[in-house]
Amino acid sequence: MDLRNCRILVTPTSYGKFNPALKSELENQVAEVTYNTTGKPLSSAQLAVLLPGMDGYIAGLDEIDRHALASADKLQIIARYGVGIDRVDLAAAREKGIIVSNTPGANAASVAELAFGMLLMLARHLPAAMDRLRSGEWPRVQGVTLQGKTVGIIGLGAIGKELAKRLTAFDCQVMAYDPYPDPGFAEEYQVAYSSLDELIGLSDFISLHVPVLPETREMVNDAFLGKMKTGAFIINTSRGEIVDEKALIKALESGKIQGAALDAFSEEPPDPSNPLLSHSKVICTPHLGAQTDGSTNMMGKMALQECLRVLSGRKPHYQVN
Ligand code: NAD
Repeated sequence: MDLRNCRILVTPTSYGKFNPALKSELENQVAEVTYNTTGKPLSSAQLAVLLPGMDGYIAGLDEIDRHALASADKLQIIARYGVGIDRVDLAAAREKGIIVSNTPGANAASVAELAFGMLLMLARHLPAAMDRLRSGEWPRVQGVTLQGKTVGIIGLGAIGKELAKRLTAFDCQVMAYDPYPDPGFAEEYQVAYSSLDELIGLSDFISLHVPVLPETREMVNDAFLGKMKTGAFIINTSRGEIVDEKALIKALESGKIQGAALDAFSEEPPDPSNPLLSHSKVICTPHLGAQTDGSTNMMGKMALQECLRVLSGRKPHYQVN
C-alpha cells in the first residue's frame, strides 16, 4: 500500500511531546493524521467513531474492544505505544486480520526507576515525614535501610530486570519469581530465582512486574498478603488488576503490611473515594510509570516504525497476535 494514501489515528496524548520530529516524520509520509485531543485514553464508543477509514492506529491505553474494532473497516495495524496489550481484544483483531504490535523494553528503565523511587520512599516514609514537617512537627521518623534487605521481584521481564540491576547496586538481596527464567541474567546480577511462596515469605519488599493473565489477576489477595513477612512493603507498577484492593486495605489496616506504593488501580482513574488514595501508608501515583522523556521518545519511535513498516507491506518487529 502506498503510504501517501494512508490515514493514521494517533491516540497517546504524549506522542511526540519531547520530540516533535515524531509527528512531522509521520505527517510527511502519510495522507492524514488524526490526533486524540481529549487529553485521555479513548473509550470504545469514541474509538468506534474514529476508526472507520483508518489504515493505521498508534494506540494509547484506549478501550480497544470488539465493539470498537467492528467499525475498523480498513485498519491493518494497531501499533501499541507501550507494552501492555490487556486493553486490546486480540481475538477480535485477529479475526479482522489486524496486526497488533507493541514496544517491548521502551519504557523499562522509566518504570523500574519509578518502582525504585517508590521503594526508597516507602523505606524512609518520605511522604508522611514531609507532611508532618510541613504541619509544624519535627518528627524522628524511623526507616529501614535497603542494604542487605531482600527484595522480591515477581515477573523478571524487561522492567523487573532493570529494577534488579538497580537493587544489586544498592547491596540488596534480589529474589525473583518468573515461570520463564533467564539464568544468564540471574548469574550476572546475582538474582536468586525461587518459588512464588518462598519469595513471598522471605521478601522485605515485593515489586510486581507481571502482565495481566488469568493466573496473575488478583494474585495479590488475602492468601498472598497473609504469607508476606509482617511489616513488609509491596509496590505495584504493573497493572491494577494484579492486586485485590480490598485485601490490600485489610492487610494495611491490620499492620501485616507496613506500606504500599501503587501506580495502577483496578479502576482508572480511581474513584476519588477509593480508600487507598487517602491512606497514610500508601503512596499513589496516576499511572505515570512510562511518562518520562526517554520512554516517551522510545515508545513513539518504535510505534511509528511498526505502523509504517506494516503499512508499507513489511513485517513488524514486535507482533503480539
Ligand atoms: P515483560 O513481558 O518484559 O515481562 C513480564 C514478565 O512477567 C515476563 O518475564 C514473564 O515471563 C513474567 N510472567 C508471566 N507470567 C507470570 C507469572 N504468572 N508470574 C510471574 N511472572 C510472570 O513486561 P514488562 O515490560 O516488564 O512489563 C511488566 C508489566 O508492567 C506489564 O503488566 C505492563 O503492562 C506493566 N507496565 C506498566 C507501566 C506503567 O506505566 N506503570 C508501563 C509499562 C508496563
